[in-house]
Amino acid sequence: MAIPDAFADIDLKTHTLLLDVDGTLLDIAPTPDRVAVPGDLRLTLARLSEVTGGAIALVSGRQIAALDRLFTPLQLSAVGVHGAELRVGGNMIDRGLKPLPQALRDRLARGAAAIGLLTEDKGYSFALHFRNAPEKESAAQELAQTGREQFPDENLDVTANKMLFEVVRRGVSKGRGIEALMTYQPFAGRRPVFVGDDRTDEDGFVAVQGLQGLAFAVARDFPGLAGKFSTPDEVRRALTALARH
Ligand SMILES: [Mg+2]
Repeated sequence: MAIPDAFADIDLKTHTLLLDVDGTLLDIAPTPDRVAVPGDLRLTLARLSEVTGGAIALVSGRQIAALDRLFTPLQLSAVGVHGAELRVGGNMIDRGLKPLPQALRDRLARGAAAIGLLTEDKGYSFALHFRNAPEKESAAQELAQTGREQFPDENLDVTANKMLFEVVRRGVSKGRGIEALMTYQPFAGRRPVFVGDDRTDEDGFVAVQGLQGLAFAVARDFPGLAGKFSTPDEVRRALTALARH
């Protein structure tokens, strides 16, 4: 598959680039801390940030601090933890959310240790990964669901992503995060272009479509897409080409 025409034609003076990270910019790794960031991707993103006047953002389930570690020395604007965290032009924006109760995070950590699942405690969400143990999918789901049910007053959801279940606050989504980001300069007034690959990115597709923007998916079908990439490598090559214009 080739780079979608609609992506190659993006005008960086009037559009803003919103990019999911795992499975979109980066190849998925066996565990989240083993992903590799190609050196030329950093250069491409830095160049795109320059050309767009900073109107480029990472949109990820990861914490913004984790994104900074991955992309160091770059510190791009970012929507982190599926929208629970927001940073614009170096300033963290308070989304007015409470972290998950410590008792729930402890309970999930204990349960996961007992069945041998890899976990990520992201404060506003808690992820249970079963990529290394696909046979534990239903145990992971049950742990997440019972955890959620133990805290009925906290308004929690369980989301299913690629090889992981995650407990998050209801209403936290990449879509809401993108909508919030787009109210700030230099994003406001531009057309958002969002590229994502996973179930949680579908909220982002809907959000940018609602903002007259363009949604692109990586190896995923969704109504109204402006185009599709087949691999993260193809996304990286498309960004490199865009940065050269
Ligand atoms: Mg992804």
